[in-house]
Amino acid sequence: MSASYTGRFAPSPSGELHFGSLIAALGSFLRARAQQGRWRVRIEDIDPPREVPGAAARILQQLEQHGLHWDGDVLWQSQRHEAYGEALSWLQRQHHSYYCTCPRSRIQQLPDGVYDGHCRSLNHPAENAALRLKSVSPVFCFQDVLRGEIHADAALAREDFIIHRRDGLFAYNLAVVVDDHFQGITEVVRGADLIEPTVRQLTLFRQFGWQAPDYLHLPLVINPDGNKLSKQNHAAPLPAGDARPALVQALRFLGQPVGEGWRDLSQTALLEQAVDRWDLAAVPRQDASMPQ
Ligand code: GLU
Ligand code: ZN
Repeated sequence: MSASYTGRFAPSPSGELHFGSLIAALGSFLRARAQQGRWRVRIEDIDPPREVPGAAARILQQLEQHGLHWDGDVLWQSQRHEAYGEALSWLQRQHHSYYCTCPRSRIQQLPDGVYDGHCRSLNHPAENAALRLKSVSPVFCFQDVLRGEIHADAALAREDFIIHRRDGLFAYNLAVVVDDHFQGITEVVRGADLIEPTVRQLTLFRQFGWQAPDYLHLPLVINPDGNKLSKQNHAAPLPAGDARPALVQALRFLGQPVGEGWRDLSQTALLEQAVDRWDLAAVPRQDASMPQ
């Protein structure tokens, strides 16, 4: 195993895996295995209201069913509250955060709904407030491993975003950065729907003084109606049983050649071949519909 590469797949347990999530799982898996790296799985269960009972267990079963075996133990974000709390305290001690009591209705009226830093120097107490990052040196662009230089919307990149919600839940951007750092992730491979938060996550890495991973955003799977395949759009769960047809479809979506003889291969052999033949340059940059 290479000490130098650690990747991860970090699903939220808001439903079963569908073809879109298989792309992120398989893409991150192949990228790690092709470099003899580690591949970790992290269940992002920090938002109980959005969690579907049984979904986490089902996701892990689906990964096993598709031969996507991870290294080490699964990390559960619900077990990481202490670490998130410590990270928040550290930011507070650095005066890199502040409480905000602005109602959503006020923020919605601001240009593009981007928060204006209204509460930055008002010294609100914690009660009934969200905690925001005081963004002292925002990141505006990054080098995507697949797509090259990506520039974020400047106002969005500069925004003092929420790191601890008013309802007491930790924000996704905080948890993901604390955990990617904790797990020693060297490269984040995930869907292009997460390009936007990447600059915020890079800003957080910078403010913590931590080395950030590289980022690689895979193309999204588009529905016939032009929307991203997602749990919110009721994408069909991956079929039970033989997972090879879905794996072949996913490999083709990722631009990887699969010969017609794949039906003669076991699932293990199919995946081994995919690791051997993995070609990042062949991965399309454009979102696309599901191959037939
Ligand atoms: N948990 C997030 C999701 O399922 C993905 C997080 C990530 O890969 O950074 O959309
Ligand atoms: Zn405010």
